[in-house]
Amino acid sequence: MVSFKFQTRITFYYLGLFVMLQSLILLSIAANIYGKTDGDVEGQLSIAAKYFEGSIEARESDFIGRAKDQTRAAGFKEAIVSNELLTIRTTLATLNQRVEADLSVLYDIEDGRVVTVVGVGRNNAKAMAPLSAPLQEQAEDEGVAKTILVIDGRIYKLVIVPVLGPDPLAMLAVGFELNQNEAVRIKESSYLDLDIAFIYKEDGVFQAAATTSNRNALNRFLADQSYAAKGAVFKDTYLGESYYFWRVELDYSLDGRSGAAALLYYEVNKSLQQYYELGITVGYILAFSVIVLILFSMVLARGVTRPLRRLANSSQRIAEGDYHTVHTSAKGDEIADLTDNFNRMVAAVQERESKITYQAFHDVDTGLPNRNRFERNVCDAVEKKTPFALVVIEVQQLSELRGVLNHANINALLAGVGARIKVSAGSDVCRLSTDAFAFLLEDHANPEVVAALVINAFLEPFVIEKITVDTSVKLGLSKFPGDTKDGPKLIQDAISALDQGRQSPRGFAWYEADTTNIFKQRLSLMSDFREALTTDEIFFAYQPKLTLKDDKIHSTEALVRWISPTRGFVAPDEFIPFAERTGDVKHLTNWGLRTAAAQVASWRRRGINVSVAVNLSTNDLMNTNLPAQILKLLSEHNLPASCLKLEVTESAVMHDTARALEVLNMLSSMGLSLSIDDYGTGYSSLSYLKKLPVSELKIDMSFVRNLATNEEDRILVRSTIELGHNLGLSVTAEGVEDQRSLDLLREYGCDCVQGYYISKPVPAGEFEKFLRERTTKRWIKDPV
Ligand code: C2E
Ligand code: CA
Ligand code: CA
Repeated sequence: MVSFKFQTRITFYYLGLFVMLQSLILLSIAANIYGKTDGDVEGQLSIAAKYFEGSIEARESDFIGRAKDQTRAAGFKEAIVSNELLTIRTTLATLNQRVEADLSVLYDIEDGRVVTVVGVGRNNAKAMAPLSAPLQEQAEDEGVAKTILVIDGRIYKLVIVPVLGPDPLAMLAVGFELNQNEAVRIKESSYLDLDIAFIYKEDGVFQAAATTSNRNALNRFLADQSYAAKGAVFKDTYLGESYYFWRVELDYSLDGRSGAAALLYYEVNKSLQQYYELGITVGYILAFSVIVLILFSMVLARGVTRPLRRLANSSQRIAEGDYHTVHTSAKGDEIADLTDNFNRMVAAVQERESKITYQAFHDVDTGLPNRNRFERNVCDAVEKKTPFALVVIEVQQLSELRGVLNHANINALLAGVGARIKVSAGSDVCRLSTDAFAFLLEDHANPEVVAALVINAFLEPFVIEKITVDTSVKLGLSKFPGDTKDGPKLIQDAISALDQGRQSPRGFAWYEADTTNIFKQRLSLMSDFREALTTDEIFFAYQPKLTLKDDKIHSTEALVRWISPTRGFVAPDEFIPFAERTGDVKHLTNWGLRTAAAQVASWRRRGINVSVAVNLSTNDLMNTNLPAQILKLLSEHNLPASCLKLEVTESAVMHDTARALEVLNMLSSMGLSLSIDDYGTGYSSLSYLKKLPVSELKIDMSFVRNLATNEEDRILVRSTIELGHNLGLSVTAEGVEDQRSLDLLREYGCDCVQGYYISKPVPAGEFEKFLRERTTKRWIKDPV
């Protein structure tokens, strides 16, 4: 379907409506005109007929007067009496000339015989009939009579008067011919363009004596028999057209119709002619008004659609991102309402867009620009080609803090962190990820100085709602121009430099292309590690835990050892952190639990009753299948749950507290005892510790090792032991390296000790040997 524009449609509607109305009016006018014509034409013809009769009568009375004058002339009478034919004819000829008569006749008074005729030829004169008796009588009685004479196809109108002497001497008839001239005269004096014919009847057939139209055609029409039957007024087809006829009888004889008559006729269509002309004029006016109307309705439609078009254009521009307000001159109408609503909508869309844009480029928690923004900044800086350093800052301890602080506090802390970085770096800072921030140092002489400043800025703790929070940061740096021109890659490089930064004593490191090699090395380390798990390259070393109450070894901690034929001794700290990142640590855990269970079972069979503590990592606490797995192992080896202990760090629990708690609760309900490892390095709050289903606290060795010399550590360890006891936990001190420390711990009421002073972690065989020989060595306080 063709669809027209609104504007075009309005134009069409107006035009259609106009044409329809005009057609209705014209049709009704036309119908009126056609209905009236017949009556109209009849009226016109009757007027013409009256006029005709009037003019004939006027002429007749003129003739009567003149003829009477003539009859009174004495000479004329004498000539009649004396029958002086020559004198009579001369007189009549003069009379004819004077009254413009065409014919004069003198009839004998006795027998009505024609005495003499002036105006027609001799032969015609001879053929003339005598005056009829009734006419003569009428003329004698009334003084005048009128008649018609048809002589040789000519029609004459006669007035007859008696010539009195005083008795009638003769009858004088004077007449005029109803000829072509007469017909034309009457036609011209009518304002209708009608035709006239003078007709007479000869041998029963009507014929035209004179006519203003085609005589032969009229004769043919008159010869038609139907004509004779027509009345005085009738309508008929003549010359193929519709005509009105009006017949005026000319015969005054008493018998009525002699046949001589004047025929007035008029073509019906001619009466419409005036309307045709009117119609053409109306047509022109109509055509003109259609054009005016088209122009007018176009202008009107433009006026109506202009605001709509303006809105359409505006929405197009808005779609392209050019927000603006539309103004309208209309007030209080629908267009104004529409424009208002449109503007409101634009404002709302604009606001929403800027909100979305803001959200797309800003971090919700801190309000700082986010990674998207930072990537753009980096790309812009690369484009500018000025050298710059890209610094990524990782906030440490954040995952532990999440377990302690609520969301609002964490956000406040993050905001504080952002602000400190900004101040110390003197640069705008972005939040790169959960734990990482980043900034650019453009054209800076020494980025390392800035890095050190940022690190130092975190020496002071934050105070969030009266809680003192310690954080530190590690930095990774990449630079431009350098290895790459790719913005995201530069960010990625700085992030991978973080790995070195974490380990570096300076707390930051530059990205080096070689680190990719390190990365590759780690990947190969992991694949070697997975393979080693299936061989005896990997085994457990067992470190005893001495219970101070009875000076016995009831349990031991299993610590993994890897002696690779190619790499030599690989310390757990060298591969476990990577195994945690790659997810390989689950293989280690599986292996560890299986090995520990098998070892305990083997010991029990040989009467050695020690439980084994196995270290778990963060990922293990996320594994909800772990409890079932352990349950299966225990039943396989027919072991009670008390044979296995599990050590978890605070940070492992904090990572996803809900899930970790779920796993820990299951394990605890199975009867396994759980220990908090490395206690004191994390952020466990008291209330939080209470929630954990643990039975043991292991004080981190960093507090224990220097117990003998460090007063502060003594206070800390002592209060921690008390705290543990208050919570109903047993307390173990790790890293006991000397007798003094051991004595102090015993004094503080510590439950268990573990450390090189008792035994280094040793292979199973050696551990058994240690147990056999333990009685020889005593760790009780020197009685001195
Ligand atoms: P940890 O659980 O805190 O283990 C104690 C660490 O302290 C062991 O280091 C042990 O050799 C060392 N140690 C024991 N007594 C002393 C002492 O008196 N002085 C000093 N300076 N050190 C002492 P190791 O074996 O290198 O293990 C390091 C860490 O690796 C462990 O810390 C533990 O977190 C992890 N780890 C070891 N084996 C496994 C394992 O099988 N699975 C998992 N997930 N982690 C393990
Ligand atoms: Ca441990
Ligand atoms: Ca530990």
